[in-house]
Amino acid sequence: MNDNNSGYFYHPLENIEDVEIFETAIDRRVFSRKLSPERPYTYWTLELYDQDNGIRGGGGLGILAADTRRVAEQVGVPLTLVTPFYPSETHQKWEDGRVIDLHKPVNYADFGFSKIDDVFVKCCGNLCRLEVIEKKFGSTRILAVTEPNFGELYSGLSGSDHRLYQEVSLGFGGYQALKLLGLKPAIMQLNEVATFFAALVRLDELASNGMDFYEAVVYTRKHTLYTNHTLVQAAEAEFSLEQFERFVFPNLKSKPVRKWLRDKFEDGRIKLSSVTIEIAELRSGVSKLHARVANYRDIAGERVKFKAITNGIDMEKWVMPEIMELYHKDEILDEYDMPTINFSEKLTALSSDEILSLKEAGRTKLNSVLTKRPDQNGEILHLKPGDLVFDFKRRFVDYKRPNLPFRDPARLRAVLEPYNAHYILAGRVHTGDERMAAILSEVLSIVNSDDYLRTHVHYIADYDEELAYALSVGSNVAINVPIVGLEACGTSWEKDVANLNLLISTHDGGVADGSSSSYLNVYGASEDEEASELYRRMEEAASAWQNGFDLEVLMRTQLAEFLPVISGTRMLSDYLNYLLPE
Ligand SMILES: *Cc1c(COP(=O)(O)O)cnc(C)c1O
Repeated sequence: MNDNNSGYFYHPLENIEDVEIFETAIDRRVFSRKLSPERPYTYWTLELYDQDNGIRGGGGLGILAADTRRVAEQVGVPLTLVTPFYPSETHQKWEDGRVIDLHKPVNYADFGFSKIDDVFVKCCGNLCRLEVIEKKFGSTRILAVTEPNFGELYSGLSGSDHRLYQEVSLGFGGYQALKLLGLKPAIMQLNEVATFFAALVRLDELASNGMDFYEAVVYTRKHTLYTNHTLVQAAEAEFSLEQFERFVFPNLKSKPVRKWLRDKFEDGRIKLSSVTIEIAELRSGVSKLHARVANYRDIAGERVKFKAITNGIDMEKWVMPEIMELYHKDEILDEYDMPTINFSEKLTALSSDEILSLKEAGRTKLNSVLTKRPDQNGEILHLKPGDLVFDFKRRFVDYKRPNLPFRDPARLRAVLEPYNAHYILAGRVHTGDERMAAILSEVLSIVNSDDYLRTHVHYIADYDEELAYALSVGSNVAINVPIVGLEACGTSWEKDVANLNLLISTHDGGVADGSSSSYLNVYGASEDEEASELYRRMEEAASAWQNGFDLEVLMRTQLAEFLPVISGTRMLSDYLNYLLPE
């Protein structure tokens, strides 16, 4: 199967026919043929990262969900996103040499949601009441279920009763919420296996309303897409039959569905991926590399194939308006924020003077966000025009290696000092991840023991959308060094490339959709070699920011390779073409 090479309208870049197909598609809304306001595309996610609407996620999976809905709104695709509204969220601060979690209540009424009604889900012999709330945005809406004790995103261990309760509430409660509004899902996209229960309810509804069980399975499978973000099935949590007896089976009406589900337990345990694969005929991974290497087996032991649909971003949200204006004016992007047919040629008009002046505007925005966010020393960083800034911003997890640049502190200093450069580090440590919390403390004590690094390396706590945006628009060089093979896609590097930063990266995730010569690639046979290559690339990037010609060449090359990947409209049209082929 050659799924991994398909998927882009712009591959090969000069394929004019593909471009015309897409424009016709959006213009005439041919996708609406099978989608309508009453039969929308439904997108199911336990995690949504959308702070404007009061919902704070954990990372890329939630960002993807929010971006998908916004792009659908921009191009007029009827889409209903179904998610929990968490009544509390975590923030972090740096105090006494460590990260501390703070919890903050959130009220949906403050974010423009209105209540529709209540629905009920059976759990542990009780009826649990969930409020159904809704907020509309053009052709799309967020439909959420919530209750005061719903808890936070990822509260409790995966595999715990509380997680199962949240997942069951989204599936069974969310499906009833759709019915309250008179909506029938044309498609169900399951953003990871935690949303499996939504497809299960649909199967149960069909099978208990007179459809033959096998027909109901075929029908559900045909209209369900499972989007995988995880590389290995083995890492996934399991639930026990006993937990399902309390939370799941009492909510199912159809006897054959209960039997089907019960048969999927092995030694009294179940992994949701195994049943999600059974209930979803359509399956996607989030980058070409990820779709190729994700190692999943179905119940028969066959390797599962994933269609590669690389994550894009909502460019209207993540790219500085002044830069979007330039992309449109120079006909690099069209009115749908898709790269134009000859955008690569148009990029040659992009001059270093323009880049420098746009980055100055971005710098002003970064400075204004930093006034509210002191660094680890309690200092407010105010960058001066022309200051060179490197940044590393992403969740603090092992495989992303926030500590790689600190492997040789003397070398790091030697790279930064000649340019009087700053290095900004931002990222959330997952609650309870003692190991990463310790690594962060260690990095900051290395920083503290060097008099240059102490004043030029800044850790900014409570990484969120605001900081992600400010750093994308206001820094110069972005560092992305996951262990190769472990990043599913990553989207922060896309924000950086689109906002005219130079990208230093290992060849992994969505970055590996492009060629390794199109950005500042870090490669090495060992971590020491990778670190030394990283320092060399940092020097190269710093020098390019002093040399207009080099800057133009590097920037145009990055954009020519990655704008088609980055375009969220390209992603949505890939999904629609996969889900509703002509
Ligand atoms: C873009 C973004 C992400 C995605 O990060 P990756 O590490 O690139 O997947 C996570 N968190 C926030 C706040 C973001 O803005």
